[in-house]
Amino acid sequence: MTVVTKVESPTTNAQPELTDGFHLVIDALKLNGINTIYGVPGIPITDLGRMAQAEGMRVISFRHEQHAGYAAGIAGFLTKKPGICLTVSAPGFLNGLTALANATTNCFPMILMSGSSEREIVDLQQGDYEEMDQLAIAKPLCKAAFRILHAEDIGIGVARAIRAAVSGRPGGVYLDLPAKLLPQVMEAEAGGKSLVQVIDPAPAQIPSPSSVTRALDILKGAKRPLVIFGKGAAYAQADDEIRAFVEKSGLPFLQMSMAKGLLPDVHPQSAGAARSTVLKDSDVVLLVGARLNWLLSHGKGKSWGEPGSKKIIQVDIEPKEMDSNVEIAAPVVGDIGSCISALLDGLGENWPTPPAEWIEQISAKKEQNIAKMALRLKKNSVPMDFHGALGALRTIIKERPDAILVNEGANTLDLARGIIDMYQPRKRLDVGTWGVMGIGMGSAIAATIETGKPVLAVEGDSAFGFCGMEIETICRYNLPVCTVIFNNNGIYRGTDVNPSGGPDVAPTVFVKDARYDKMMEAFGGVGVNVTTPDELYRAVSAAMDSGKPTLVNAVIDAAAGTESGRIGNLNPQSVVGKK
Ligand code: ADP
Ligand code: MG
Repeated sequence: MTVVTKVESPTTNAQPELTDGFHLVIDALKLNGINTIYGVPGIPITDLGRMAQAEGMRVISFRHEQHAGYAAGIAGFLTKKPGICLTVSAPGFLNGLTALANATTNCFPMILMSGSSEREIVDLQQGDYEEMDQLAIAKPLCKAAFRILHAEDIGIGVARAIRAAVSGRPGGVYLDLPAKLLPQVMEAEAGGKSLVQVIDPAPAQIPSPSSVTRALDILKGAKRPLVIFGKGAAYAQADDEIRAFVEKSGLPFLQMSMAKGLLPDVHPQSAGAARSTVLKDSDVVLLVGARLNWLLSHGKGKSWGEPGSKKIIQVDIEPKEMDSNVEIAAPVVGDIGSCISALLDGLGENWPTPPAEWIEQISAKKEQNIAKMALRLKKNSVPMDFHGALGALRTIIKERPDAILVNEGANTLDLARGIIDMYQPRKRLDVGTWGVMGIGMGSAIAATIETGKPVLAVEGDSAFGFCGMEIETICRYNLPVCTVIFNNNGIYRGTDVNPSGGPDVAPTVFVKDARYDKMMEAFGGVGVNVTTPDELYRAVSAAMDSGKPTLVNAVIDAAAGTESGRIGNLNPQSVVGKK
């Protein structure tokens, strides 16, 4: 318990020790094992950050709240504790809100804590400094939103926020801290007693035995079974149980983007290189912590084979997720650790290996696809194409499997996801459920702060533009982050021209031959410009060896890249008057 000051009591001459709202917030977080704050200082929370640092918390100051928020979300994903993002009122709050909504969408636990203006003035709309009813605005974008008005409620308010963020399906929580709350004083002893250490914040949720039996019966009868792991499975940190279940059952598996590495992508049972075949031809699919959203074509359509050809088993902590897009033949509701343990137990001693014909079909397809890809990855052309450059980075991660890979862009994302094999759980962080651009630098910062591991951030030049100023943050904290910009002079490509012939360039192109590496030098980091896969490999290896903040400008053929990467089908295009 932090004691702020001692004052003379007029009646007793005793000296009651006092604390205040600032210190109660800090003590409440620390009591619950939260030791890092990501944020941007300003009115009314500047002192909160200062005092948190004085009290031994790690306070990481960003240049823009959105990236502090993305960092908090990723901290939550990596640690199963809510990441904290601290912002100023109205504009800072709104900047953080994008990340709060993103965390909720991705099921990452985080708490956005924002200072806010005088309630009396805000509620009468009398025009206070940064006036905004932040609580009302945050509510629809997160799991829960709370406002604390009295210092004695800080303990319970922080406890509610933590439990709301991590229990059940994890997500974002908003905590409103009015300016008047923070300097409120109370006796330190009573303050200490008002704090709450959350007991069992994310209780195990055991699946019903009958749901497990139902699932196993369907799985046993499968001719062409498949397991799909999503980032919920990575989040659950049930790595050993998952591995045991996969290896004992012999089931082929796919891993969604941020689940890659849960089992090594090079695992013999991985069907990653035969993705479209197994999605189409499987007859039973076991989904583990993956939603049937757009990333899995909603579980229907051509990529899923004939309608009615599949039975789906779904393991998820959120009961409402079941039947969200298609019928779920066997819902297993519970936390992934408990569910997979129950399924593993249920395999018993004589679980049949999946039909040999199916396994052979998958192997043949894998071999074919891997051989095809190998040729493209060896290309040493100048200027580089995506495959040549990614071939080099693939080797880097193979040699450094405990490094964390951050990845965003359009083509840079789509191709890297398939090409760069991951070997360990929770090592791949990317654009997530929304496919949002700009998560890169915030994710990279949180990844190394939370794990102490080096980070390789592979960024499209467009994606980097959304968060590029945070390289100053990386340099300021001297973080072991190597950022590689795939610079093809524009969004998707750098070759579009203005069809009108007017003086403006096309909306999708950037300054030609920009040197992003020089930005890094401005902040004392290492900047390198590379034009070949060999140079790229050498520059990144050196950066990872040195741990120095580095930015590698990788010159990619401006004509390489397709519109919207692999999701061009989602981009409506005019058929009328296109020039
Ligand atoms: P991906 O994008 O990788 O397919 P999604 O974000 O769509 O993954 O799905 C993650 C799912 O995991 C969500 O439906 C969420 O409810 C679920 N989930 C998250 N944590 C757990 C957990 N500990 N136990 C069970 N399910 C979880
Ligand atoms: Mg580009």
